[in-house]
Amino acid sequence: MTERLAPGSVIGILGGGQLGRMLSVAASRLGLRTHIFEPGPNPPAGHVADRVTTASYDDGDALAAFAAAVDVITFEFENVPSGALDALESTAPIRPNRESLRISQDRITEKDFLVRLELDVAPYAAVDDEATMSEALKRIGTPAILKTRRFGYDGKGQTTLGEPQQAAAALDTVNRAPSVLEGFVEFSAEISVIAARSASGNVVCFDPGENVHRNGILRTTSVPARITSEVREQALQIAEIILIGLDYIGVLGVELFVTPGGLVVNEIAPRVHNSGHWTQDGCVVDQFEQHIRAIAGWPLGDGRRHADVVMENLIGDDMDRVWSLAADPSVALHLYGKSEVKPGRKMAHVNRRIGHSER
Ligand code: AMP
Repeated sequence: MTERLAPGSVIGILGGGQLGRMLSVAASRLGLRTHIFEPGPNPPAGHVADRVTTASYDDGDALAAFAAAVDVITFEFENVPSGALDALESTAPIRPNRESLRISQDRITEKDFLVRLELDVAPYAAVDDEATMSEALKRIGTPAILKTRRFGYDGKGQTTLGEPQQAAAALDTVNRAPSVLEGFVEFSAEISVIAARSASGNVVCFDPGENVHRNGILRTTSVPARITSEVREQALQIAEIILIGLDYIGVLGVELFVTPGGLVVNEIAPRVHNSGHWTQDGCVVDQFEQHIRAIAGWPLGDGRRHADVVMENLIGDDMDRVWSLAADPSVALHLYGKSEVKPGRKMAHVNRRIGHSER
């Protein structure tokens, strides 16, 4: 790959959901084209991308043709099968790097990595069966959260234990999959930092957002977060340490708990992140463009926040509100083009500008 991809170059994106869609829109504003690789039919990203390959992640011929047709490969989800990456990497560069993906695919590898960087995480222990669960409970106590090591998202694959007697039921809830038991963190707020690192090592962090989850699913992100300037600085520093530790190129999301004892890292996501959607209407250059710039070898843009914003996810039946939201002048709508509304399905989000005086 040349150091800087010229306009007209093609970004390959693994995954065709809303993140791939918004990455494609951002790429097109920069004169770059996108090619989506997605096994499912009619992916939201396919409506706005230049090309779509519909094939499974174990289709070697399709992967080879895809890699040959693009200049750089990125992904919009962290569970990309490693076999697919093996088939792609000799033909086109993968950004962010595979090591970042490997580390964040497994909650234990991720926590071990964060501990190596001397960052604070909740107490944790690997759980594979009743015996390791009982050991983990002795060390960590309750309340605690049992989470599957892999493939968890939006609160799926996790359950809270109020007392040790719930061990067997908790193991059943996660289908006895390899898991991690985490001590319950008493936090005053959840925040996240969306941070970008360019191919030349320059780092730009967006302002931390304050997140509210319901049933494990992100509902809102508000900026500015209600945190002190010291906590804000610490959060940005943590994000930078992680980016450098991973030798990362692209945008990364870092979720943090604010506690009286300092910031505790909950998890990292090696991709653009739902809690960074506010940047679309709160910054000159949003997280999607920042990611495209980074992986294309371009300089990073201006990520400073110019507005106070509350991002709200529209999930399932929230779509019933779409016409009243469309009539609200303080709201920017971002619909994902999904044809079927399902409970728990992220359909759209809105960014509401707060305290913005009409002129
Ligand atoms: P996760 O899938 O790890 O992002 O967890 C989803 C949500 O569950 C988080 O955003 C928190 O609200 C809550 N949560 C996860 N881990 C913990 C923990 N160790 N202590 C307290 N709450 C947690």
